[in-house]
Order: sequence, then C-alpha cells, then structure tokens
Amino acid sequence: MSDYKLLIGGRLVAGDTTMPVVNPATEAVIADCPRGSAAQMDEAVAAAKAAFPGWAALPIADRRAAILRLADALNRRAEEFARLLTREQGKPLSESTAELAYTEAFLRSLATLDLPVRVVEDGERRRVELHRRPLGVVAAIIPWNFPLLIVAFKLPLALLAGNSMVIKPAPTTPLTTLRFGELCAETLPPGVVNIVTDANDLGARLSSHPDVRKVTFTGSTETGRRVMSSAAATIKRITLELGGNDAAIVLDDADPKAVAPKLFAGAFMNAGQVCLAIKRLYVHERIYDALCAELAALAEAAVVGDGLLPDVRIGPLQNRAQYDKVLGFLEDAGRDGRIIAGGAVTGGPGWFIRPTIVRDIADGARLVDEEQFGPILPVIRVTGIDDAVRRANASPYGLGASVWSSNPDRAYGVACRLEAGTVWINTHLDFGPTIPFGGAKQSGLGVEFAEEGLAEFTQLTVINRAINRAN
Ligand code: NAD
Repeated sequence: MSDYKLLIGGRLVAGDTTMPVVNPATEAVIADCPRGSAAQMDEAVAAAKAAFPGWAALPIADRRAAILRLADALNRRAEEFARLLTREQGKPLSESTAELAYTEAFLRSLATLDLPVRVVEDGERRRVELHRRPLGVVAAIIPWNFPLLIVAFKLPLALLAGNSMVIKPAPTTPLTTLRFGELCAETLPPGVVNIVTDANDLGARLSSHPDVRKVTFTGSTETGRRVMSSAAATIKRITLELGGNDAAIVLDDADPKAVAPKLFAGAFMNAGQVCLAIKRLYVHERIYDALCAELAALAEAAVVGDGLLPDVRIGPLQNRAQYDKVLGFLEDAGRDGRIIAGGAVTGGPGWFIRPTIVRDIADGARLVDEEQFGPILPVIRVTGIDDAVRRANASPYGLGASVWSSNPDRAYGVACRLEAGTVWINTHLDFGPTIPFGGAKQSGLGVEFAEEGLAEFTQLTVINRAINRAN
C-alpha cells in the first residue's frame, strides 16, 4: 500500500510524512502516500540545480534519446498505470487507457522537435544568430484532472531544451505521477527530474523558489494569479494554462441528432473536469427544443459508476471539495433553469453526479458565467449569430470555443469572431502535440506544445557578430 516514493536527486525516497489518497468512486483509502516536506522540496530544487549544467551540456540528440527511453518504459507499464489512474482519479478505464496512450504520444512527438540556431541576418556588416538556450530549473505544477498527460505536456519540452525539473502533482492524484517517477529514475540522469508531493501546501514554496527559473503551471485561474505574483520577485518565466468556460455555438442549420453525441462527448468527458470541455452551449432558437431533447436522452442513457466497471461512461467527481462545489452549481441550476436530465446520485459511497442538462437558463446564472468543472451543461437559447457571439465573448475566460453548423464556411465566419486560444468548427477538444495550445484573456499566458511551446522553455540569446570587411 505504501511503496510509493518521491524522486529526489535520482533516489526514490520516502516522504517526511504520509497522507491518504482516496478512490473517489469508493471513498476508500487506496494508498498511504508519501508527503513531501518543505525541506524535501528545497532538496529537490537543489538536486535539479546541480543536475542542470551536465544535462544542458549534452547534445540535444542524447536528451531526445533519454525522453524516448522514458516513453518506452511507460509503454511497458501502460496497463498497470491506467488502472491506477482510474483508481485515484476516477475516470473510466477507457479514458485512462487513452490518457496513457496520449502521454506516450506527447513524449514521443515533442521529443522530435529541434532547436537549430536561426540566422536572421548574414550581411556585409554583421551576422546575427538566434540561439535558444535552456533556462535552468523548471517547476511544473500539475492539477488533478489529467495527472499524467499534463506532465507530458511539459516534461519533454523542458528536458529537450536542456532544463532540469521539479514536478509537483496535485495532492489528490499523486500516485500515477510517483510511478512515473520510478521510470524517470530508471531512464534519466540523477536530478534531471524530481517529483515531490504535497498536501496543497508546497506550491507557493516551489513557485517562489529563488533557484527556479521558470514555472509551468496548469490549474485554476485563481491559483494562476498567485503563481504569477510569486514569480515576480525573481522575474521568473511563466506559462499559465488556466480555467476555461468554453462556449459552443450551434447555428440554426445544424442537425440536432447528428451534433448531439459530439456535443455530449465534448461536455462530459472526464465527468466535465476538463479545462477545454464545452461548459456553455448556445443554441439557435429554431433547433433549441430538439437539441435539448437529444442531449437529455444521451444523459439519461449514460452509465455512471466506478470507472473500473465495464461500460461506465461517467466516473465520479475527483475529490470531495470539487463534488461539493458542483453540488452547489446543481442547486443553483435548479433555481436558474430547468433540469431535464441528471442530478446527484445519492445513497452510495463515491462522489457521483449524473450528466445533467439544464435548459431555459441564461447568462447571469452562475452555471453559465462561472466554470462548473463538472458534469452539468447549461443550454442557452439564442436568437441569431450576433447574439451568440456577443454572449460567448462576454466572459473573462477564453480557452476554447466551437461553432457547429452544416455549412462549414458559415461556421468559419463565426469562428473568426470568437475570443479564444482555440476555436473549433464541428468538433471540440481536438488537440495534439503538433498544435500550439494556449488561452486568451484570463485562461492563460503563453502556449504549450509544438515549436511555440518549446521556445517557452528557452532563453532567446542573440549573437551579433560585427563583420569588418577590411580585415
Ligand atoms: P488548482 O489551481 O487548485 O491546483 C493546481 C495545482 O496548483 C495543484 O498542484 C495545487 O497543489 C497547486 N497550488 C495550489 N496553491 C498553489 C500556489 N499558491 N502556488 C503554486 N501552486 C499551487 O487547480 P485544480 O483544482 O487542481 O484544477 C482545476 C482547474 O484547473 C480548473 O480551473 C481547470 O479549468 C484548470 N485546468 C486548466 C487546464 C489548461 O490547460 N488550461 C488544464 C487542466 C485544468
């Protein structure tokens, strides 16, 4: 039960204390998990700092090979990790299996990137080159919705660029990340990756640590603000992937039967605990009733339960605090709109809420204006495109958005008016390692993935050589 270990300086070590980790489907304690102390966090940063020069000095091909070894090691244990992920996070096993596959794919794909010197001028007078150098120690702070995949959003880019890392998982989902640490211990030089858990008490210490040069953070906008201010003292580089309240707009020419399953999947994956999930659905009044009915039928049919059971489509909320928060949204939704499917599951252990469809609700209601991060979807009636665009954009968030129509050109025109980091047409939640990803407005700062993401783990250095033709 307690063979989980922190990873500090290449050694798998016990935490200074322990903390229970609970399966959200059963509320049973599944591990007495090591809990890092402030001293262990400092040790981890020191180990990363010590490992940095050697790692940075390696040829990029060697660092790439090490990341690929890590991907191979993960592949060998993917099945075991997927089951553990479901037990600690709650998502159905099919989604955990997919998370493992995506994690490996991100490691492999991002490892193929390169950092060539770019010559921007090579003239009579001067030769100017752009070099991308590593920064130093990178702190990666991870939320509880995709405990392993989000590590793979950050780790391959940070390491490929030549940085070392300290990773801090979320307090309620540390186990899969600690198992991943075992793979790092096998495949990477000591100190290049360190993993320290906490009980939500060491994030600020890590993100304000003077020896950390960059913080890559995924989590709520509220905590993102704190990370931003704690980075100020030493002008750390930061990448923030924060909350979202993604709007999907369904135009009057969409076929309700055809789009409903896709909208449902975009809203209810991982029980709605996805930064990029559809969280507000704006539907033209002409097809409003038909689409509400289709969505309600899908919600009624969805199998909710322990993610390890076959056929389960929706697992529990990941932790008690989130469950209580989403119950609050549910209560308000019953007042602000009409619940036509779903509701809380009572009577058993586990933090379950059925996929819930709320109609006859409008902007101004908490479920529409705030991020619910749970399986409750508000469906809002709109009178036309301008009305929908105005409402969709009237949000402090701007992570993703989508437009649904049987006329993709018409949808394209709407997509170009939406304020978000990613706008999809006739799909939602489609992302990958080769596509830059980042939030507009208060959904984030900077981008992840692809070359643009890699650049964020580097210091741009200009080498400007004067050319004296006389000599
Ligand atoms: P959270 O902000 O509560 O916690 C995220 C991480 O930050 C945890 O590891 C936590 O321990 C740590 N932390 C807490 N206080 C800190 C501090 N002062 N300094 C540094 N770190 C600190 O978020 P959560 O509840 O784990 O995740 C849910 C939120 O994350 C949602 O808002 C969701 O939209 C967002 N999210 C965003 C993305 C994205 O890519 N944009 C992806 C997943 C989740």
